[in-house]
Amino acid sequence: MKIVIAGAGAMGSRFGLMLHRAGNEVILVDGWADHVNAINENGLKANLNGEEVVASLPAFHKDYLEKEFAADLVIVFTKAMQLEGMMQSIKELLYDETKVLCLLNGIGHEEVIEKYVPLNNILLGNTMWTAGMVGPGEVKLFGNGSVDLQNLAPGQEEIAKEVATVLTEAGLNAKYSENILYSIYKKACVNGTMNGLCTILDVNMAGFGETKEADAIVEAIVAEFASVAKVEGVELNVPEVLAQIKGCYNRETIGEHFPSMHQDLITNNRLTEIDYINGAVARKGLKYDIATPYCTFLTQLVHVKEQILGAK
Ligand code: NAD
Repeated sequence: MKIVIAGAGAMGSRFGLMLHRAGNEVILVDGWADHVNAINENGLKANLNGEEVVASLPAFHKDYLEKEFAADLVIVFTKAMQLEGMMQSIKELLYDETKVLCLLNGIGHEEVIEKYVPLNNILLGNTMWTAGMVGPGEVKLFGNGSVDLQNLAPGQEEIAKEVATVLTEAGLNAKYSENILYSIYKKACVNGTMNGLCTILDVNMAGFGETKEADAIVEAIVAEFASVAKVEGVELNVPEVLAQIKGCYNRETIGEHFPSMHQDLITNNRLTEIDYINGAVARKGLKYDIATPYCTFLTQLVHVKEQILGAK
């Protein structure tokens, strides 16, 4: 399959590398010039579960694209706030048949993609894979993961299943989901509590979870997500979602980790995806006339912190 990875940071590099190693024709597109140049000069370097690998993958700066590449599949993997700019840049690579798969964290990305791609060609998903940048041209890829995906428009199930097969053949462990919006909202609840709170409070997940106020705050945030999701036809199982969040406090498993937003803002001084997690719920709350004070306040606090730290 001819595949464009649109946004080839940590996750895009993982998917690009694995799909390339499985024999697909893959190109990487990114807006970070040093990264693109490093890949073209030295290959994409990865520590893949302890094994050092180098892949010869063509990389293009998003502003200088090879327009002849007629993609069967585009996998978008920017940060949420870079998605619109990336869709603008790659629009000439999109043909009538090109499918676009979005695996970004957060909710509502289909509203951006729909401006560039017919509904029939859009696939939404969720992934449990992880990845990290080491520096330009270099990533670390540890652990295992999975992908769940579904077509946005009715009647396109076969296409979604075909894409899941291509990903699975590359070792990405993908499956067709009957209700992807449910999984997207569920994951957004975990991110919408752990990410913003641990970032603002500068604490790991266990440290937050062990405070007396943790349960009340988390329950209030999840209630806002659930109310908004319900208007969109997604009936969240709130006890199940809360149990998953509380599982993050366990020091024996992942409790001592800082969520990715903490790494983005506090460690790396980068802007966060808060507008597409709690901020998205706040915007939807306004639209549906649902009060979302916790999501609104948390979004504001994270933006204040971004400004204090001069995040870029
Ligand atoms: P990333 O920050 O590694 O890459 C996103 C974009 O930022 C890329 O265009 C990349 O080139 C650019 N970038 C990265 N580091 C940069 C730097 N130092 N200077 C300039 N540009 C830089 O993002 P990601 O972790 O791959 O995440 C992509 C999407 O996948 C997000 O929505 C994220 O929430 C989601 N996600 C990430 C993980 C993970 O483990 N990383 C897991 C699941 C979902």
